[in-house]
Amino acid sequence: MAEKIIGIDLGTTNSEVAVVENGRVTVIDITPGHPILPSFVSLADDGSILVGEPAKNQYVLYPERTIKSIKRRMGSADQLELGDAHYSPQEISAIILRRLKEIAEAHLGEPVHKAVITVPAYFSDAQRQATREAGEIAGLEVMRIINEPTAAALSYEANHQDHKKVLVYDLGGGTFDVSVVSIEDNVVEVLASHGNNHLGGDDFDAKIVAHLVEHLKSQSADPTTSRKAMARITRAAENAKIALSDQPYVRIEEEYLLDKAGTPVNLSLELARHDYEAMIHGYIDETLEAVHIALKGANLTVSDIDEVLLVGGATRTPVITERLEADLGLTVRAEVNPDLCVATGAAIQAGMLAGEAVSAVLVDITPYTFGTSALSDRNGFPYPFTYVPIIHKNTPIPVTKSEVFYTVVDRQEVVEVDIYQGEDPDALNNIEIGKFTVENLSKVPSGNPIVLQLSLDVNGIMNVTAREKNTGLEKSIRIDNALTHFQEGELQTARDRVNALFADEEHVLVKPAANAATSDHQLTVQAKALVEKAERLLDRAAEEDREEMINLMESIKDALREEDIDALAEPVATLSDILFYLES
Ligand code: AMP
Repeated sequence: MAEKIIGIDLGTTNSEVAVVENGRVTVIDITPGHPILPSFVSLADDGSILVGEPAKNQYVLYPERTIKSIKRRMGSADQLELGDAHYSPQEISAIILRRLKEIAEAHLGEPVHKAVITVPAYFSDAQRQATREAGEIAGLEVMRIINEPTAAALSYEANHQDHKKVLVYDLGGGTFDVSVVSIEDNVVEVLASHGNNHLGGDDFDAKIVAHLVEHLKSQSADPTTSRKAMARITRAAENAKIALSDQPYVRIEEEYLLDKAGTPVNLSLELARHDYEAMIHGYIDETLEAVHIALKGANLTVSDIDEVLLVGGATRTPVITERLEADLGLTVRAEVNPDLCVATGAAIQAGMLAGEAVSAVLVDITPYTFGTSALSDRNGFPYPFTYVPIIHKNTPIPVTKSEVFYTVVDRQEVVEVDIYQGEDPDALNNIEIGKFTVENLSKVPSGNPIVLQLSLDVNGIMNVTAREKNTGLEKSIRIDNALTHFQEGELQTARDRVNALFADEEHVLVKPAANAATSDHQLTVQAKALVEKAERLLDRAAEEDREEMINLMESIKDALREEDIDALAEPVATLSDILFYLES
């Protein structure tokens, strides 16, 4: 059998190693279930060298004898101090590569001598040469140095013969690169690349750190003089950032962070995703500008691009996908784990060099979008069945995501939660796969936050929980077969069935709901919204319509005042008819 060649993503923040086995790529676990090796090297108390997670942990306690982000120094003549000795960047990188080589050997049960290593597209010859030397110091013959965007594209396109132009958006811990890549007959070429090698997830962390420091200072505690406190805050900030990728709020807690005149200072602060997104807005603007510069560099426009691929851990931040899709008008792809797709591509290249047949990367993804319905503006109308996706299609599973929703009326004690599967912006055109009601909510003004969490596992079992944020009151349901319930054909049949229901009343906004209480509630909400809308549009109406609108608005207001639901339906339907024609 041919000698194995391993593929290595030697990253600024994290590194991974992968190999082709039986025609498929395996990204090798560093510790059970965990394939990511933090690119940290540190000196332990007993003088031994620590690599990866233990070294990263040491950074909290002994930042002075821990080296991180060595990739930034590659190609320089810097010397790094570790204990009594000095090391070159190549030697420090070689320590990381040695560890990856040992891990691959333990996994394969045979010695490994050859590797493909990835580097950023912008790396100079000196930086590439230094990477090659690091491999050699680690005992690896570097068969090829390939560009990271090339590797990412390979991980998506193994065995595809398509001709495509792909944009690779790579936001890691400390670096950002965007590359325009051309794929033709399995030849992958980087046409243009742009970026900022001092922008990444670490900068996002720094924004949260600054926010936490400010909070502590407002309580007359200054953590900036304590290196250990700052290291703990930095780690807490990163954890908070990662949590906010999947949930709308996070509570940051660090006990006994500081000592203030003999009294321990604890940190406890809630951060909302919305506020965090505002903190990083400027950084994302910068990345979008780089996207357009790279396109220009490749002499292409957005319409020439077939696909956008996400690479790098920081691209899990949902607002990045949202802003890229809004800016480019293209759906972005992230089904190959963005932390692992460069290593995966390196292994595919390594496998091809070793003469192995390599098939496409297999990942478990959800082929459907799952979400709920909420009252929101739709085509200018407030519409109670606006679909709000929570887990998007092509997301790798298992996955847990949550979003926040708000009650719409004062003292609202009940919310009905409907879970749908499908892609249509109108929830009623999707498939309802479960519903439940949460009762006994606090009698507070409208805007009471309710956090809805969806967890989907590889077996297609979905757990749904709705929680009143301020009290913790919650209710859950389990939906079996969320993935296998509906095939595409059935989805179409269901769509047709629902459309048929609306055949005679296309623009009537209120669907007869199964549950009388919620239907009444929705009709009330709808009626109030319609009246507001009618008031706004009154000036636009012709004389005879205006009179009728005023009469209808009066009837609706009377019915609302008298809580006479039966008297609402008719004027609501007629008024919504008039508004429909007024707007069209
Ligand atoms: P990389 O250099 O590609 O390994 O990316 C590492 C960066 O991704 C670090 O800044 C991580 O904090 C960040 N990261 C990892 N997971 C997530 C996540 N779920 N959401 C946001 N950032 C993440």
